[in-house]
Amino acid sequence: MARGVSPRRPAKSGTQDRVRRRGSAGSALPKKDGPRLPGKGKAPPPGKAKPPAVRTVFAKPATVKGYDPLAPERIKEILRHLDQLYPAATCALHHRTAWELLVATILSAQSTDANVNRVTPGLFEKHPTVQDFAALTPQQLEPDVRSTGFFRNKSKSVVGAAKKIVSDFGGQVPDEMDKILTLPGVARKTANVVLGTWFGKAEGVVVDTHVQRIARRWELTKAEDPRKIEQDLMEIIPRERWILFSHQVIHHGRHLCLARKPRCVDCPIEPLCHAEDKTWTTVAVHKGARG
Ligand code: SF4
Repeated sequence: MARGVSPRRPAKSGTQDRVRRRGSAGSALPKKDGPRLPGKGKAPPPGKAKPPAVRTVFAKPATVKGYDPLAPERIKEILRHLDQLYPAATCALHHRTAWELLVATILSAQSTDANVNRVTPGLFEKHPTVQDFAALTPQQLEPDVRSTGFFRNKSKSVVGAAKKIVSDFGGQVPDEMDKILTLPGVARKTANVVLGTWFGKAEGVVVDTHVQRIARRWELTKAEDPRKIEQDLMEIIPRERWILFSHQVIHHGRHLCLARKPRCVDCPIEPLCHAEDKTWTTVAVHKGARG
């Protein structure tokens, strides 16, 4: 923000109608009858008073010279804010064992944790152990997980994982990355959730849809592929923070940094965030920094 320029406190609606991007695809341009940016648009009809100039802190082109989004001080500051916002962030999926967490994580793909939490208590009451699941066919499981979506694939993964855990791992969910990745339906995201949350092992960073979006908004990565995003994050986030960082960012994505309409006006990280798709800003935005 330019020195001496203080932004107007916006409405609590989460948008600031006078602070909009100009010309970019999908951006909200000033309405025809709304405030105009200085020097833009038609002159007022003769006899009509000129509307007051609108002061904006946002309409300048983004400047990126000398700016390093990966600077350790910036990362530290982001982590400090996350600690203040979500000091006790943890996995929202209800579980009592590593197996239950594994099942819940598989079911959470393309679903909400709340939805999965509605399904799992009944599911684990009906099939209490991994051996019970291993004795099922995917078709038998389908009705119980139907409401989580993609239920055919999920049933296949859960039953397949149960069979492998019983046959190859003595009925115990493996606690090593290379072994857990051999389970059907388990990719790095699920593996990181189970290893981090249940076993307390920081083998990677959970990259779900929230982490993916926010890491890009914060310019911590330019990648779109989750595996590449995870590698980028593992390079800049201290290893001892990997587990907590994932949970905190997921919380941030649920509560403030929403996909469609992030609540930037309420976000303490706002001064550090140059996301192109912000809804309010006090700093220049950077082209390409978007979720
Ligand atoms: S300022 Fe907005 S886009 Fe940036 S992190 Fe906060 S909520 Fe997300």
